[in-house]
Amino acid sequence: MTQTENTPAVQDTPLVPIEDIVSLCKRRGFVYPNSEIYGGVAGIFDFGPLGVELRNNIRRYWWWSMVQLHDNVVGIEGSIITHPRVWEASGHVENFVDRLVECKKCKQRFRIDHLPPENLEQNKCPNCGGELLEPRTFNLLMETYLGVIEGERMKTYLRGEACQNIYLDYDNVQKSSRMQVPFGICQIGKAFRNEVTPRNFLFRQREFEQWDLQFFVHPSEMEKWFDYWKEFRFNWYQGIITHKDRMRLREHGPDELAHYAKKAFDIEYRTILGWQEWEGIHWRQDWDLSRHSEYSGEDLSYTDPLTKERYIPWIVETSGGVDRTFLNLLLDAYEVQPDPTGKDNPRTVLHLHPWLAPVKVAVLPLQKNKEELVKTAKGIHNNLKRFMVSQYDDIQNIGRRYRRQDEIGTPYCVTIDFQTLDDQTVTVRERDAMSQIRIHIDELMPYLLERVTWK
Ligand code: ATP
Repeated sequence: MTQTENTPAVQDTPLVPIEDIVSLCKRRGFVYPNSEIYGGVAGIFDFGPLGVELRNNIRRYWWWSMVQLHDNVVGIEGSIITHPRVWEASGHVENFVDRLVECKKCKQRFRIDHLPPENLEQNKCPNCGGELLEPRTFNLLMETYLGVIEGERMKTYLRGEACQNIYLDYDNVQKSSRMQVPFGICQIGKAFRNEVTPRNFLFRQREFEQWDLQFFVHPSEMEKWFDYWKEFRFNWYQGIITHKDRMRLREHGPDELAHYAKKAFDIEYRTILGWQEWEGIHWRQDWDLSRHSEYSGEDLSYTDPLTKERYIPWIVETSGGVDRTFLNLLLDAYEVQPDPTGKDNPRTVLHLHPWLAPVKVAVLPLQKNKEELVKTAKGIHNNLKRFMVSQYDDIQNIGRRYRRQDEIGTPYCVTIDFQTLDDQTVTVRERDAMSQIRIHIDELMPYLLERVTWK
């Protein structure tokens, strides 16, 4: 799982302002503000035509690596609304709170755990220096109601984290799929949090998507599997980013650990926002299954088929965000290169890994008014699009068309010119090096598939 040989590592480039990504996303159809015509809703977004392709690729590649490649891992897709007791058992009703302070002067709000220590000590706003008001506590769970008759409606919650479904389905999965410990359950799904300070585009939203693995082990094997998944997840992210040195594993200090956790690491990535969590690897022990056993009255212990030992399995969790991956990959891939001719026409390029790029290939006839060129190009496009996302483009000159594809991260452009009509060869241009080779039309499909398909 490394960059393909024809995707050279990019030289270190300046950290990208979030606004540049917001603007690219809107302009090129990756992400739009939700309900924009009504003024928008903070912390909620929609994904456009290119965004949904990138997102699907990110999700499918995760699923492939985690579920398809691991014989001892299976997947589920759980519901967003569950029984309200779930959130009592999980501790969210009681503990899923943020402490918030508001500045008296500029009215900006801050999470206490995000305030620099000196501002906290001096009770001073980091934005304007004004006085901070008394902290208030907010529960992040989003409430909803089941039922139609007033008085008989049941209050419940949109899930605050996706992983709870995995604990709820653990026993069903284990029995119906005949899994034996050690085994894992994966899920990708939406989660909802009334974040008190939604900000930084996709980084902190109110509706977002998480990917989780919960891996069930015998307590004596906890250390081994914790280390395995920590390394696996770190290497997984390393394989799809360009700036490898902007990623690190950081162990939680004793004061950061949740009460049930013996160990936790964050995979962090450095952006203009500083070092921030991308995914958490958690040593959850038997806390989740024990709590759900206690609150539901169902015995969730496991009997080893060989030794007959009965125990509650311990859990290694890897929990990351699809949206944070989407944003971090764009921040990692974005580069504005100066115009090589010295004119004021910089090249914006997304160095997305070819496996994840939303469009894999663009098919470009050199001129749109030459019937033979157009016919050949359309034939190639119609053939390619059955196997990969291909875009046909005949508008404006070829240089502009290359630029448009660079800006959305298309790894390959195929140009059909007059020589094609003579010898059936086409030009394949690679995005990062801008190198060009000529290959026979018959070789095109295997050439591209080799480079854009994950393996
Ligand atoms: P933070 O400390 O940043 O609030 P967290 O520790 O609460 O995050 P988890 O509950 O462990 O995060 O969630 C797992 C993953 O889900 C995070 O690593 C992150 O990628 C993603 N995530 C969490 N909250 C959000 C959010 N509000 N918007 C987008 N992604 C999020």
